[in-house]
Amino acid sequence: MIELKSPAEIERMHTTGQFIAQILSELSELADVGVNLLDLEHHVRNRIRQRGAQSCYWDYAPSFGNGPFRNVTCLSVNDAVLHGLPHDYALRDGDILTTDLAVGIDGWVADAARTIIVGTPADDDLRLLRATEEALAVGIEAARPGNRLGDISAAIEAVATGYGYPINTEFGGHGLGRTMHEDPHVPNTGRAGRGLKLRAGMTLALEPWFARTTDRIVFDPDGWTIRSADGSRTAHSEHTVAITEDGPLVLTQRQPHHADSTSA
Ligand code: MG
Repeated sequence: MIELKSPAEIERMHTTGQFIAQILSELSELADVGVNLLDLEHHVRNRIRQRGAQSCYWDYAPSFGNGPFRNVTCLSVNDAVLHGLPHDYALRDGDILTTDLAVGIDGWVADAARTIIVGTPADDDLRLLRATEEALAVGIEAARPGNRLGDISAAIEAVATGYGYPINTEFGGHGLGRTMHEDPHVPNTGRAGRGLKLRAGMTLALEPWFARTTDRIVFDPDGWTIRSADGSRTAHSEHTVAITEDGPLVLTQRQPHHADSTSA
C-alpha cells in the first residue's frame, strides 16, 4: 500500500531530511586519509543522540544479514557498495567511501547516501561518481505527478547505459515515510511510460548505484556488506524526494534557510 503524505507530513520529513543532509556533509568533511570508519560511526551516534532522533538502521533485521544491525551508518568502501558494516578500518588515499544514513525524527523518516573520494581521486572513480549523481538528478527530475514509476527507472538506466555501467536489479529505491522501507520498490532499470502512476504526496528514496564492470553482487560473511562480484569499484547516490503538485522536492538536499539546518 502506498500512503500519500500531506504537505504538513512532507514538511516533517523535510526536517528529518535536513538533519541527514547536515550529517552527511559533516561526514564528508571528517572522512580523510587515516580516519577510522568507527570514528565516523561514533560521530553520527552522538549527533543522533543530541538531536533526539532515532536510527532506522539500529536493530534492523531483514531476511539477509546475520542478526540485527548494530550501527547507525552504512559505510561502504571501494568494491563495497551497500549496507557496509562500519568496522576497524583506517581510510586510505584514493578510497571511495559511500555514507548512507536513515533516521526518524518525531516519527518521520528520511534516507540519503553520498559517495566521496578520500584524498587523491582517480579519473575513473570521478567518472563513476558523476554517473550516479547524474542518474539521481534525472530520476528526481522524472518524479512528478502524471509521470509513471517507469519514467524514473528508465531515466536512471539511460544514464548508466550512456556511461557503459551495468545495472544490478536486486536493490533499488523505495517508498518511505513512517518507516524506512515502504511501497513501491523503485528499480534502477525500467521502461518509460510504464508502471505506477506518480501522484503528489508520494515520497520516494531514489538510489542509483553502479559498479564499474558488473551487475552482480556478493555478500560478505557478515551477511550485510554487499560488494561487486568482480571486485570492481562502486558508487551510490541517494536522496529522499517528495512528489508535489509543483514537481519534485528533494528533502535531503541542504537548504540553508530550512528550520533544522541551523541546529548543528
Ligand atoms: Mg539509504
